[in-house]
Amino acid sequence: MKVLVVGGGGREHALVWKISQSPKVTKVYCAPGNAGMAQIAECVAISVEDIDGLLTFAQQEGIDMTVVGPEAPLTMGLADKFRVAGLKVFGPSRQAAELEGSKVMAKELMSKYNIPTAKYAKFTDAGSAIEYIKETGAPCVVKADGLAAGKGVVVARDEETAINAVRMMMEDKAFGQAGDMIIIEECLEGEEVSILAFTDGKTVVPMVSSQDHKRVFDNDEGPNTGGMGAYSPAPVYTDELHRQVMEKILKPTVQGMAQEGRLYEGVLYAGLMITKDGPKVLEFNVRFGDPETQAVLTRLDSDLVEIMEAVIDKRLHEVNIRWKPEAAVCVVLAAGGYPGSYKKGDPITGLDDAAREAIVFHAGTGLQDGRIVTSGGRVLGVTALGPSIPAAIENAYKAVGKIHFDNMHYRKDIGQKALRHL
Ligand code: AMP
Repeated sequence: MKVLVVGGGGREHALVWKISQSPKVTKVYCAPGNAGMAQIAECVAISVEDIDGLLTFAQQEGIDMTVVGPEAPLTMGLADKFRVAGLKVFGPSRQAAELEGSKVMAKELMSKYNIPTAKYAKFTDAGSAIEYIKETGAPCVVKADGLAAGKGVVVARDEETAINAVRMMMEDKAFGQAGDMIIIEECLEGEEVSILAFTDGKTVVPMVSSQDHKRVFDNDEGPNTGGMGAYSPAPVYTDELHRQVMEKILKPTVQGMAQEGRLYEGVLYAGLMITKDGPKVLEFNVRFGDPETQAVLTRLDSDLVEIMEAVIDKRLHEVNIRWKPEAAVCVVLAAGGYPGSYKKGDPITGLDDAAREAIVFHAGTGLQDGRIVTSGGRVLGVTALGPSIPAAIENAYKAVGKIHFDNMHYRKDIGQKALRHL
């Protein structure tokens, strides 16, 4: 099989790494890829949002399966166009991808099908939203309806922050049309867990649990980022919680989507808060999460391509997915300054040494004069397995210690939250 992976981050490197291990696969392409993926696949310079360019490439190369990493091409209808052209694609249709593309749509679905989530109100003008905040007070969470590259959520501890967030989204249009509608929701307290599941629209097969670290500094301080690290499993996620998540969240969501005429296939990602009243949905994503995927796929024992084919052919019920018992920890190495402005083009050293201890997934890397250099905010995801979470943490940081680039920044406390539950 020839497989095309769309995307160029750590998540896509993990996908390419796992897909290329399948005995069914003869060649992997990635668009646009990065310097790490280039070592195991062929990178083609097509942007993830150039749907027609990707389609033409897939047709010309005779691609047997296309796997979509990021959300934007899915919400733009990549999967629909590929299917119409008779190509196999792993990822939801445009209508199904609205589950991430519109927070209002997701909240309305959850209300209709009694899926536990924070209480909310939706607004189409700043004046009413501000009035509502003044009446109901803080803390609250202000969310832009549309895609905002992970920056469209403000957890406001006081009224002023909430009102400023409304103004930023609706009056200053910081996220363009994504902020034409907003929701204001109840602030939930608890620990967060990410549950990713494969689904063909009918059968739901969960992956192992994981937890992300969104803030840039240790002890969850500083601004939100795309994710500074992850670990799997999340010990807070007990068997009882798993049962509740399957019965009250994942299955009803997939069934609800089918009933709404938005048959959902691909990966469904539920970002959950484990509250004292049980698990509640913070958000849905319509694709693999990053960096969770780097930790989760490292633990996958089965052939990912077989699972993806079963999803596409709607026979996921036939598949038995095996996981490694080891824990996995992924530490993201970022460029100093991220998530604000940062430098690019700094040479990276120690990658071969680190690769003896862990898997080094590339995110923002490029090639310059034959050398691997930084080219993005999140640069690498150093992912290690271990017989326990503490052992995986040790292995990951040992590998991190071998890598260097100017102003490299990473969190020193990835996985520490898990230790409280052990
Ligand atoms: P989202 O993109 O919706 O997951 O939001 C990003 C982050 O904001 C989440 O990972 C949580 O840390 C936080 N968040 C979102 N919604 C809520 C909520 N209702 N209560 C508390 N924190 C939230």
